Amino acid sequence: MEKPFENTVARRFGVLPNFFRLSAADPRISANLWGFAQFAYLDNSLPSVFKERLFVYLSRFCEIRYCIARHVGFLVGLGYPAGDSSCLPQTVESVLPLLRRPLPHGAGLQPLFAVCAEFESPLSDFPVPDSPGEQALFACATHVFLQTGDASTAHEVLRRAFGEHNLEQLNLLLAFVRMAHYWTRLHPEIALEDDVIHLLTTHEALAHCVLKDPDALADRLDYQVAEELTSLRKLRKQHESMAQAYQGLSVDHQYMKHTLQETEENLRELVSVMPAAVFACDREGTITLCNRQAAEIWGRTPHLDDPPWLFLDSRRLYRLDGKDLPAVDAPVKQVLATGVPVVNCEFSLERPDQSRISVLANIAALRDSAGVVTGAVSIFQDITELKRMHQEREVLLLELERSNRELSQFSYNVSHDLQAPVRNVRALTQLLAREDSLPEERSQLLTLIEQSAVGMERLIGSLLRYAQAGQGQLNRQHVGIKQIIESVRVTLAPLIANTGAQIVCKPMPEVEADPVLLEHLLQNLVANAIHYHRPEEAPAIEISGAPCKDGWQFAVKDNGQGIPRDWQDGIFEPLKRLHGSETPGTGLGLALCRTIVARHGGRIWVESKGSGQGSVFRFTLLATELPSSIVQNSVVKRTP
Ligand code: ADP
Repeated sequence: MEKPFENTVARRFGVLPNFFRLSAADPRISANLWGFAQFAYLDNSLPSVFKERLFVYLSRFCEIRYCIARHVGFLVGLGYPAGDSSCLPQTVESVLPLLRRPLPHGAGLQPLFAVCAEFESPLSDFPVPDSPGEQALFACATHVFLQTGDASTAHEVLRRAFGEHNLEQLNLLLAFVRMAHYWTRLHPEIALEDDVIHLLTTHEALAHCVLKDPDALADRLDYQVAEELTSLRKLRKQHESMAQAYQGLSVDHQYMKHTLQETEENLRELVSVMPAAVFACDREGTITLCNRQAAEIWGRTPHLDDPPWLFLDSRRLYRLDGKDLPAVDAPVKQVLATGVPVVNCEFSLERPDQSRISVLANIAALRDSAGVVTGAVSIFQDITELKRMHQEREVLLLELERSNRELSQFSYNVSHDLQAPVRNVRALTQLLAREDSLPEERSQLLTLIEQSAVGMERLIGSLLRYAQAGQGQLNRQHVGIKQIIESVRVTLAPLIANTGAQIVCKPMPEVEADPVLLEHLLQNLVANAIHYHRPEEAPAIEISGAPCKDGWQFAVKDNGQGIPRDWQDGIFEPLKRLHGSETPGTGLGLALCRTIVARHGGRIWVESKGSGQGSVFRFTLLATELPSSIVQNSVVKRTP
């Protein structure tokens, strides 16, 4: 006798499925399964044909063949499709394509997604069986059901097509089918009902599709395997790209290692051939690098495996004043402690044979990539010989200066003392010349003597001025060059008048200078410009002045005979003349000019393209007064 529960089920389906008779031990299970079946499947608001056909299609992917067989039965009229007695059954022939329809994956799904995109959203009319619309919706639902890699995209496509309400209904149906598959799997003993057995025995093609469906294991195996394969493929791809990246990195690494090694070797090579001594040490005072030159200066070779500081602390260093320079104050320790480089540090070093040498060191900190001091490198040189030469030079300079002063003084004294006798000779000659009875011959001789005395007087005067210019204090004053040139014009008025010289003076500055010496300077230059003019042309002289880097630069330009290049330096030496006795002169004028300019911290030179091309004499004057030492030195320096 049938129980009321089973009657209820049978009434709804038109048959009693064995599914609801599985858990006889606990009737509550079947009752609740029934409740779930009604809610999620039978009373689900989706169209009955849609639900049943989908149930059939989904059941293809279950290894237990009960569900597919039973639901194919419902669909072809063995009971009601989706428990709907009003739903017309389908023919076996119309069910076969559903059972044979392949399930596309991945890119194969795209055309089906496109079909869904064409649906109005949400769907009002569900697609008819076997239409492209049904194929697309079933494929999406199956991917969601099987939770394949395409499940989430498929679910989104369904959301758009179904709208929220129908999507919930669909999900409920999927959940129920899923539960049914699990339940039958847990009860593999479940038997097909007689009506279904009859159906299958009478329809071979149907039986073949239902019982031999190659997709039956897909749910359990194929999709898991497919999924695993997909993720394995992904992993393999990742692995391949990581392997490639690693290979690239290791090639880079090898290359960099090689480059670093090469750079290090080159550096060591460079350090070994450098003319300077080099050593490097780490923070702990262990020497990490040292070249032969360093060992030569130290007089011994450090061992690279010496304990920290053993070698460096054993050096005996002295300050410049000869006092001990304790090891804690060694420049390299300062650099390691502060990171601040030591530049041109001079100290003495005692070598093993107790001799002391002067050392000039430059030390810099070595840092790691974070900027932390990790060591120091010192480049140093033995400057003992250099210092000795420097001192010698100083002594020589002083000596030269002293003898220069003495010479000046001597020239001055001699010239001064010679003045009186020469004047006497001239006076006596003039007295003798007044004698009326002197024969013509004697009278000519006396004239010659007087002329020589005049020349000698001129020479002595020049010598006096030259000697004076190089000694004594400079009497610097604020003077206008214009005024000085005016005064020169007055002094040279007869010469200017005799030669018809034209002197053009450009705007002139005021400078701090000794006015007397400056007048000697300009007078010599202007007088030379007139004296050494070309006979066929009257002298044309232009004097100009312009600011320059350190003060002022002046130029005295003439249109005279010019000076050959070979002579352009020599003419500033005392007593050096280009011209013979046909042009009066002492050869001391330009030497005097050079002394005067040098005492004012400037320099003098001439520019001329050669004979007949005119000359430009240029000289500079420093803008401010120089320290006396420089001025004194410049007196003994040769003008470039
Ligand atoms: P000097 O008393 O002979 O003029 P300087 O020392 O003044 O002595 O000049 C040296 C030589 O330089 C002159 O003898 C002359 O040959 C040459 N000299 C100087 N100034 C000029 C000039 N403006 N043009 C051509 N030659 C010059």
